[in-house]
Amino acid sequence: MRIDPGANHGVGVAFTDRWGGVSEGSLSELNLGRVDVDEPDCLVANVAALRAATGVDGIALVHQVHGNRVLSIDQETVRRHHGYPDRTVLDEAPDAADPMPAADAMVSRVGGLALAIRVADCLPVMLADPQAGVIGAAHAGRNGLLCGVLEAVVAQMRRQGAREILAWIGPHICGSCYEVPRQMAEEVWASHPATRAITSWGTPSLDLGAEALAQLEGLGVAAVGLDPCTRESPELFSHRRDPGSGRLAGLVWIKN
Ligand SMILES: [Zn+2]
Repeated sequence: MRIDPGANHGVGVAFTDRWGGVSEGSLSELNLGRVDVDEPDCLVANVAALRAATGVDGIALVHQVHGNRVLSIDQETVRRHHGYPDRTVLDEAPDAADPMPAADAMVSRVGGLALAIRVADCLPVMLADPQAGVIGAAHAGRNGLLCGVLEAVVAQMRRQGAREILAWIGPHICGSCYEVPRQMAEEVWASHPATRAITSWGTPSLDLGAEALAQLEGLGVAAVGLDPCTRESPELFSHRRDPGSGRLAGLVWIKN
């Protein structure tokens, strides 16, 4: 796991790689999603390892659906979901009595609670205004970026008092790897020009990282991209490289 040293002033930011957990096979080692195929005991151990490494009390997760809904987390939310500190990725399985909220972004002012976004090629975008004590996190894949998830999370952070927002874009599939059908590429290129890219093998692709940077710049957010391409790095999970792969996580938290 990589804890970004640039995140400070009371805020932590981290992006996991595939090492440091106990899952096996194509999920090895630190799978943080894929609750449908991994062993429950492995998932519990992996989340415990993540909490130990970050030093947080709990990790807030959402049921990600490639949309733009932002979940605001306050102390009441934590209580209502019988305490996020006790939740694990196992809760991703929809439970009629207490379903994990469906959302693709979160905003919080709660100390000691990490917001976690799980990915394997999509972009995990972590955001913070350390001075104001407001953090946000977004799952920004193709659909999320096109339907405004970043705009939505930034707007919600500002409603909660954020002014100078910083963003960290975690590991994701790059523009040289993210091949899409030509018709889709041409439609997205027309509406979102920053996405225009070509794969290293010469076919139409989308540069989602460039699009995220362009959107964040337009929103007045200072952003950095931190990591290598998921598809090209054996240290990271990639759905495109291996559809059976596990899930990485990006995390942001306010230190206690
Ligand atoms: Zn790549």
